[in-house]
Amino acid sequence: MTAPNSTTPMTTSEAGLEPPRVRAGLDTIRAYSADRTPATIDLSDNTNLWGLPPAAARAIAAVDHDSITRYPPLYTAELKQAIASYVGHGVTPDMVVTGCGSDDVLDSAIRAFGEPGSRLAHPEPSFAMIPIFARLNSLEPIPIPLTPEFDADARAFVECSARITYLCSPNNPTGTAFSRTAIEAVVAGTPGLVIADEAYAEFAGTTVLDLLPSSPRLLVTRTLSKAFGLAGLRIGYAIGHPDVVAAVEKSRGPYKVSAVAERAAVAALTDGVEWMRQHAAAAVDARERLATALRTIGVDPLPSAANFVMAPVADSCAVHTALRARGIAIRPFTALQGIGDALRISVGPWHLLEETVAALAEAPGL
Ligand SMILES: *Cc1c(COP(=O)(O)O)cnc(C)c1O
Repeated sequence: MTAPNSTTPMTTSEAGLEPPRVRAGLDTIRAYSADRTPATIDLSDNTNLWGLPPAAARAIAAVDHDSITRYPPLYTAELKQAIASYVGHGVTPDMVVTGCGSDDVLDSAIRAFGEPGSRLAHPEPSFAMIPIFARLNSLEPIPIPLTPEFDADARAFVECSARITYLCSPNNPTGTAFSRTAIEAVVAGTPGLVIADEAYAEFAGTTVLDLLPSSPRLLVTRTLSKAFGLAGLRIGYAIGHPDVVAAVEKSRGPYKVSAVAERAAVAALTDGVEWMRQHAAAAVDARERLATALRTIGVDPLPSAANFVMAPVADSCAVHTALRARGIAIRPFTALQGIGDALRISVGPWHLLEETVAALAEAPGL
């Protein structure tokens, strides 16, 4: 710590009675917040309600003390290898960057490629963290409304010509998958970095990873927080051209994935893949069953390719409050562009969804 310079007299406020002033603009950014009060049935965060791959649980139990007392690998070489093998498509470890959740990877990518003052275009509605990361890195977020079919509006993205374009398919919170044509048109027609967030790819069964060889400006982000059931360990990754990935990694910095997380992630991506596939399939079944049940109570969800559905309702806050009173958590959204009020409901084992639909049927605000 630097001692105050004793030769310059200080005024009272300089002497430390007031906190220091934050960077210009930071006070206008709202910190991300979500209602995390415990619920008996928590369908609010799209995590894996069936649990985690047993292979990952075993790896965590087997962690030795050296993995705790020593620093982890700088840039997770072993995990990159496991990711490359898991995703296929000719991906090599030098095309992979990991991070403390894909949030960390997205933030690092925006910092690496977003010139301060430049624009970041994103679909609206989409992942709530993106405009926050844009502002934190001094970029201007430009919301581009979804088409009436809930697809990315490729023409509007191309016209916007942003330094960074963010796409998310399946899109959170709508659950809708963007069309291949729209994504291809954005990748081909925009001048800067294009991020394709594939946090829910395992449920959709589609990917744009095959565009990478022809699109050095494309960066695909993924996570182990959703299908792989490891949200608490915070592991995400991105795949792109080796030069793009190197820039993101530099901006990210070393030691962002803990040793415990790396061990669990490697186990999940090797011996845990079969478990993940079975449970992703179970999530898709449960999702379709939930959509049908919702329709029988007069709620019509958007078509989803993820492990959650978005259901437009008249008053999402009223529904949320009524469900909370019964120990059930869903994520309410108000006045979404082109949609209005809506609920985002994660899927899980059927008995949880059944109880939720029963509570919904009696809730005000549908
Ligand atoms: C959940 C989610 C993520 C982030 O997950 P991490 O836990 O930070 O890996 C990223 N993008 C979307 C669209 C998500 O829904």
